Amino acid sequence: MDTATVPQSRLLRTVIPGPRSSALHAERVQQVSSGFGIALPVFIDRAEGGILLDVDGNRIIDFASGIAVTSVGAANPLVQARVAEQLDRFTHTCFMVTEYDSFTAVCAWLNAHTPGDFDKRTALFSTGAEAVENAVKIARAATGRAKVLVFDDAYHGRSLLTMAMTAKDNPYKVTFGPFPTEIVRAPMAAPLRWPSGAENATTDALARVEAILAEQGPATFAAMVIEPIQGEGGFIVPAPGFLAGLRDLATRHGIVFVLDEVQAGMGRTGTMFASEHEGVAGDLLVTGKALGGGLPLTAVTGRAELMNAVHTGGLGGTYAGNPLACAAALGVFEAFENGDLLAGALRIERTARRILEPLVAEDSPIVDFRGRGAMLAIEFADRETLEPRPELATAVAARCHQQGVLVLVCGTYGNVIRLLPPLVIGQDLLEDGLLVLRGAVESVYAEQSVGAAVHA
Ligand SMILES: *Cc1c(COP(=O)(O)O)cnc(C)c1O
Repeated sequence: MDTATVPQSRLLRTVIPGPRSSALHAERVQQVSSGFGIALPVFIDRAEGGILLDVDGNRIIDFASGIAVTSVGAANPLVQARVAEQLDRFTHTCFMVTEYDSFTAVCAWLNAHTPGDFDKRTALFSTGAEAVENAVKIARAATGRAKVLVFDDAYHGRSLLTMAMTAKDNPYKVTFGPFPTEIVRAPMAAPLRWPSGAENATTDALARVEAILAEQGPATFAAMVIEPIQGEGGFIVPAPGFLAGLRDLATRHGIVFVLDEVQAGMGRTGTMFASEHEGVAGDLLVTGKALGGGLPLTAVTGRAELMNAVHTGGLGGTYAGNPLACAAALGVFEAFENGDLLAGALRIERTARRILEPLVAEDSPIVDFRGRGAMLAIEFADRETLEPRPELATAVAARCHQQGVLVLVCGTYGNVIRLLPPLVIGQDLLEDGLLVLRGAVESVYAEQSVGAAVHA
């Protein structure tokens, strides 16, 4: 195997995007559906640690991890070794046709490491949307009920059912309806924008959920599905106690409580699963993204009696739990067991807090710095009215991109910059990238004459 390493420092050799990337992008436009968007139109040659090396020789700091996927690094040797070994043996059998034990081993790890002290089973799939849909299928089969309770600002995927469960219309849903029915949306206890103040968010939002359940008939709900920290919706951390309150309501009414940890799980927030911060366990827990270390693998893990309530043959998928993806996941687990990745997430949080939190100054349009571990965000809005300022987020992200730091914008209003660095990112690289981000904020303020004191 090629053991060349990518130097772990930022380097600008051309403008970004450079000429090679631009030429490849022009070709892409001729060949690829315009339905795919692009955050930063550069083409990648190699990636490792915290660096994306593009085809023009630029070394870009990676604060995206391919949307929270390459947490253990995009070229983790433990993942590479296991995938290489599996590649040598066979690529595919289809687990519904003949078996291989890495599938079972991935399920066993998830059964052992997900929160909840009860007998568990796991089912593997290929995409997050597919896994969320299967969680709903399982909940319906187990309860004989139809409805699914979801929340404001939720993101659960791009398939028809998960689009219906997702809150944001543009770009995810617009023109793609009609959608499956039986999806009911409840308020999310979002501290920043809760009308009567953050301190009331949990109590008020739980009261609203109870009212919705009462109105619709609680016994008509199969599942309640929530992200323990919302991803695409803007890295919203629910007000303390909200998840536990929902957990209680679900238990009381026999509703399956489903945690969508596709983005927040697998060590991203400094604990293996984000729901651990709130001490809650789902009846079903959905993992994805970082689970496969860059190969497509997702899972539903949960109470054995629910997971086994489905008729045999009712779950599956051609590529579900593909052998290469299972091998990669075993490498990811090994990386978490050997290394100090959870501590890495906390180090990232401490460093980002030190460098970015001062931006949330009195007269600054950065109204919030939030998140946990290596899942962090800053939100741009008017101080007084909280009117979103997406143009500032876009301008700051563009400035970062020009300087070789890849950040992503998210949020229902497109006014949030999110940080998802690989957990293995080096400290110098992390600080360099964060200082570029801070400088980008300052220069955009100066340009747009946003009256803001930015403290060092
Ligand atoms: C990304 C994501 C999904 C969908 O995963 P895909 O693999 O893109 O289908 C579902 N839920 C959450 C919370 C996500 O962040």
